Amino acid sequence: MLDQSCCTNETCFDCRFWNEKVAWAANGDLVASRLPGGPNDRVARAGGWHYVIRPMDHTTPPQFLGFGGRLFTFRFNDGSEISSNNVMCQGEIPAHFRDRLPDNAAIIPVEPRPKTIPFGPLEGLTTENTR
Ligand SMILES: [Zn+2]
Repeated sequence: MLDQSCCTNETCFDCRFWNEKVAWAANGDLVASRLPGGPNDRVARAGGWHYVIRPMDHTTPPQFLGFGGRLFTFRFNDGSEISSNNVMCQGEIPAHFRDRLPDNAAIIPVEPRPKTIPFGPLEGLTTENTR
């Protein structure tokens, strides 16, 4: 018996969208890469939100990466950690899908930046220019 479902047979767009994610979870929390022959992307669910972790990408301009290239680190329930600057979010998992899409990870907060830079701002430049 479904709890608070949005439709009777889970045939609406939202239900089809989230049933696809249930299939990814059944596939070992993996989803096929967009890149032909690429490794599967990991699926993370943290705090009731759904994420796909694409491989770290240092060549694509940040505006084309997930969250503008923001670095995320996920710690999975098995203790493993993955960091990526190309994380895509599919949104908050609806209540009636939470039992089928339980959290499998937590997002580790990024270390706060130190208030002062530990070296002079031109240090790198001056050594470069005096060579
Ligand atoms: Zn529905």
